[in-house]
Amino acid sequence: MSSSFSEVRVRFAPSPTGYLHVGGARSALFNYLFAKKNNGKFILRIEDTDQARSTEESLKMMVQDMVWLGLNWDEGVDPVTLKDVGPYGPYRQSERLPIYKKVADELIQNGSAYYCFMTDAEIEVQREANKNSEANKDKGHAHIESPYADWSLAQAQAQLAKGKTAVVRFRTKNLKKDYLLKDLIRGDVKFPSDMVGDFVLLRSDGMPVYNFCCVVDDHMMKISHVLRAEEHLPNTLRQLMIYEGMKWPTPQFGHISLVLDADRQKLSKRKGAVSCDIYKTEGYLPSAMINFLSLLGWSHPTEKDIFDLDELKQIFSLERLNSSGAVFDRVKLKWVNAQHLRALDSKTLWTMIEPYLAKAGLQYSDDINWQMKSVEMFKPKMEILSDAVNLYKALDEKQFHIGDASKEVLTWEATPKVLQTWIQLLKNESADFLSEADFVRLENEVKTQTAVKGKNLFMPMRVAVIGEPHGTELKLLVPMIERASLIRRAEKVLVAKA
Ligand code: GLU
Repeated sequence: MSSSFSEVRVRFAPSPTGYLHVGGARSALFNYLFAKKNNGKFILRIEDTDQARSTEESLKMMVQDMVWLGLNWDEGVDPVTLKDVGPYGPYRQSERLPIYKKVADELIQNGSAYYCFMTDAEIEVQREANKNSEANKDKGHAHIESPYADWSLAQAQAQLAKGKTAVVRFRTKNLKKDYLLKDLIRGDVKFPSDMVGDFVLLRSDGMPVYNFCCVVDDHMMKISHVLRAEEHLPNTLRQLMIYEGMKWPTPQFGHISLVLDADRQKLSKRKGAVSCDIYKTEGYLPSAMINFLSLLGWSHPTEKDIFDLDELKQIFSLERLNSSGAVFDRVKLKWVNAQHLRALDSKTLWTMIEPYLAKAGLQYSDDINWQMKSVEMFKPKMEILSDAVNLYKALDEKQFHIGDASKEVLTWEATPKVLQTWIQLLKNESADFLSEADFVRLENEVKTQTAVKGKNLFMPMRVAVIGEPHGTELKLLVPMIERASLIRRAEKVLVAKA
């Protein structure tokens, strides 16, 4: 670590203008892990200077999703009250405006920045002229040249005193050189200074722009390492210039690879969910999300696929971050989730699926033994928690209906015989629930009494229990359904047949 920083301090700096994007969650995770691995601090800073788009609702949602993922931060806003926690606040940029103003004044005083009085119309005229000029035709985007760059501060102050409004621009003219960034993930990146023109720090209404507040806050919050998405790489040149203008030590930067869709395009919500919140609602486990997100651009030292946050905290290192784009493979995410879900003990899994069953209005037993047995039966069939809803429907008599796939079975000659015998044998039993052995015994009995076997036997019986010819094995399902309900179901099928 550079000698200017005595401890590792990293930050995640979302703009609360929507949901927590999975790409953002991954940046947060890598920062969190880097802090943990290095006994450092993880800071949550709220970049809410876009007042039109930032909302308290969005902030709440993002914070809740971070808590759900287990990415607990050391400084920032309190997850419940959203009030500042930590010695370097305020942690919301909208509350730091006087700080940015003060730094902008310093940059103006030391000649690194100046007041620019150009109107929007003047800027537009210059843009048009640049577009059409021979000299600029190969340059792509030409930069705005402000006539006010050469004004003395006294001249500018006289204009301001007259009530004129100005933006504050950073002066780039004297910085003719290449800026070299030693990116922790991408290696050496060279930025020629003329990639940017005199850029705005403060708008005429006094609101700071992202590149400016980011540098001021990273400096004042003593951020030692900036680990963020690759899309911010081009911003780094402006940020390096501001550090230089203030003679502040620069943190180390690491730009994390893009998260891509399967077609290697930027992740888009048209192709599937991109917000953590949706995955949470569908019943993905936070441990699986963490596991999966960590593998977007990073790999486990032993190439392991399944692990948890505690293990990650021990083994995470920036060296294993990859600079090429990472594909957000939703099929893999589901698989990873299934592995985490199946590793849960039945009690924990039951408490996780119960809200899904209740929300879907399904009836289920309060008997803990029934609950545990049902979870053990369905666990291997579940990938995400909401899968429980379809599986448990088979156990709820209210949900029983004869599916289209059963219609053919009902036309078979042997079907009524099988159903009648099954009903009769069920009636002869006395226990409320059959055991697995009871079921096997009754099934054999139906076979002997009717002389029907193979699919002519199994399919009608399956329809009698779940209304469908295919599904979970009957010897597992039947002991979970009350005998009286089994009788009513089979009778319904018999009536449908008639
Ligand atoms: N607010 C920025 C974003 O959400 C943060 C960029 C940074 O980490 O510097 O993308």
